Amino acid sequence: VKQVDLLGRLRDLVGGDALLTTADDKSPFLVDHRHLFHGAALAVVQPASTDEVSRLLALCNGVGIGVVPQGGNTGYCGGATPDASGRQIVLSLRRMDRIRSVDAANFSLVAEAGCTLAAVQAAADDAQRLFPLSLGSEGSCQIGGNLATNAGGTAVLRYGMMRDLALGIEVVLADGSVISALSPLRKDNTGYDFKGLMIGSEGTLGIITAACLKLFPQPRSVATAWISVPDPAAAIAVLGRLRDASADRVASCELVPQSALDLVLAQMPGARSPGTTPAPWYLLIELTSSGNDDLDPLLESALAGAIEAGDALDAAIARSGEQRDDFWRLRESIPESQRRAGGSLKHDISVAVAAVPALIERGARLAADLVPEGFLVAYGHAGDGNLHFNVNQRPGTDPVTFRSREPALQRAIHDLVATMGGSFSAEHGIGQLKVGELERYAQPAELAAMRAIKQALDPNGILNPGKVLRGSAL
Ligand SMILES: Cc1cc2nc3c(=O)[nH]c(=O)nc-3n(C[C@H](O)[C@H](O)[C@H](O)COP(=O)(O)OP(=O)(O)OC[C@H]3O[C@@H](n4cnc5c(N)ncnc54)[C@H](O)[C@@H]3O)c2cc1C
Repeated sequence: VKQVDLLGRLRDLVGGDALLTTADDKSPFLVDHRHLFHGAALAVVQPASTDEVSRLLALCNGVGIGVVPQGGNTGYCGGATPDASGRQIVLSLRRMDRIRSVDAANFSLVAEAGCTLAAVQAAADDAQRLFPLSLGSEGSCQIGGNLATNAGGTAVLRYGMMRDLALGIEVVLADGSVISALSPLRKDNTGYDFKGLMIGSEGTLGIITAACLKLFPQPRSVATAWISVPDPAAAIAVLGRLRDASADRVASCELVPQSALDLVLAQMPGARSPGTTPAPWYLLIELTSSGNDDLDPLLESALAGAIEAGDALDAAIARSGEQRDDFWRLRESIPESQRRAGGSLKHDISVAVAAVPALIERGARLAADLVPEGFLVAYGHAGDGNLHFNVNQRPGTDPVTFRSREPALQRAIHDLVATMGGSFSAEHGIGQLKVGELERYAQPAELAAMRAIKQALDPNGILNPGKVLRGSAL
C-alpha cells in the first residue's frame, strides 16, 4: 500500500480529527518522558472505540505496518516511542477514556484503557471505594499503560502490583480479533491465564482497550510517620516491627536517604523539612485501616519500642492531613528534584526485602569506585525490596565523563542484583531501554518461550516492534 493510500484508509477509519500527520501535531508523541529516545512516525492515530482499534490493527497487520501503543507516555524505558524509520504508527489510547461501569457491591469497575489513573481513583472514590494503585505520575499515566507495564508504586506492600488488581481485560490482537474478558469473576480457572500474559507485555502481544479492576474498602483511619534511622538494616527491622505490631496494616514503606532529602529541599520550592533528627536514612511509613481504628497511638508505641532498640533515632507522626501531604510530597518529589539537579544514572532493581541492606552496601561500594563524579541517591519502595538505585552527578564535575560511566556501572549493579537472586527491572519494564539486559539475564528457555508466544500471537511482528524482544524492523 502506498503511504497516501494508507493515510487515507486510516482517516476513513478514525476520522480526520483523530489522525495526526503534521510534524507539529506528532512531535509530543515521538519522544519519551526522559528524553532518552526520539522516534518518527507516519502518523499518530487516536481511535475512540474497541471496534476502531480492531479495524486499525486488521489494516496494519494486512499491510505490515508497525503499531506502537501509547498511553500517558510517562514510561521510563522508551516502550511507547516509535523507532526512527518513520514507517510505524503511534496508536494513542487517549480518546478511549470512559469509565464504562462501577459496581460498588462487587468492588469492581470497568475502565477504558485511556482513562488516567487519577480518573479511575476518582471514580472509585465517588462510589466510596478505593482503587489503590498510586504512582507519582498518576495525573497523566493511563490505566492501559499501567496494565501494559504491570505498574507498581507506593501501595504494593498491601495491595500488590497491577497484575493483582485486574479482574478482567479486553484486548485487541494483532489480526484485529477482540478478546473480551471483562467479567468481574474472582474465581475462573478456565484455561491459560490470558489476562496475566497481557499484563506486563508492554504492547507487544495485544492492545489493551479496557479492564475490569478490583476495588477495596476505603481507608477510614490513616497514620503516617517520617522516621530517622541509622542504616538500611535498622529500616528493615522497623518495617518488621510495625507489620507485627499493627496486625499487618502497613500500606506503604518508602526508604529515603539524606542525599535525596537534601536534593528535594534544595530543588523544590515549598518543600518543608520533616523536622526529625537528621540521619543518613529515613523511612516514610503509612498504616491504613478500613475500620475506625486509632492508629496513631499504636504507631507511637511501636516506634517508641524501635527507638529503645536503637533501630530508630527519632520519628514524627503526621498530626494533620497537611503534614501527611508534606511528608508524601518530599517522597514524590525525588525524581523531579534529581532531574533538576543534573545527570542521573538510574537502576530500577529489586531483591528480597531482607537483602535490601546488603544490596545497598555492596552497590554503594561499586558506585563509589566506578563513578567518582557521582553520589548515591538510592531510594524507593523498600517494603517491596525495590530500590531506584540512582547515582547523581556531583556539582562541578564534567557531565560527559559522568555519563561515560553509565555502561560499567549498569553492568556492575545488574550483575550484583543477579548474584543476589534479584531483578534488574522491578517495576518499569523492558521497553527498548533494557532489551539487551533481558537477553543477558533471562534464562535461555525463558527467552525461547517468550519468542514463541510473540510469534504465535503476532506472526507479522506488527505490535510494538523491537520492544521487550529484539524484532525485525517494521
Ligand atoms: C514521576 C513519575 C513517577 C513514576 N512512578 C512510578 C512508580 O512508582 N511505579 C511504577 O511502576 N512506575 C512509575 N512510573 C513510570 C510510569 O508512570 C508507569 O510505567 C506507567 O504505568 C506508564 O503508564 P503510561 O500510560 O504513561 O504508559 P506509556 O508510557 O504510554 O506506555 C508504557 C508501555 O505500555 C505500552 N502501552 C501503553 N498503553 C497501552 C495499551 N492500552 N495497550 C497495550 N500497550 C500499551 C506502551 O507501548 C509502552 O510499551 C513513574 C513515572 C513518572 C514520570
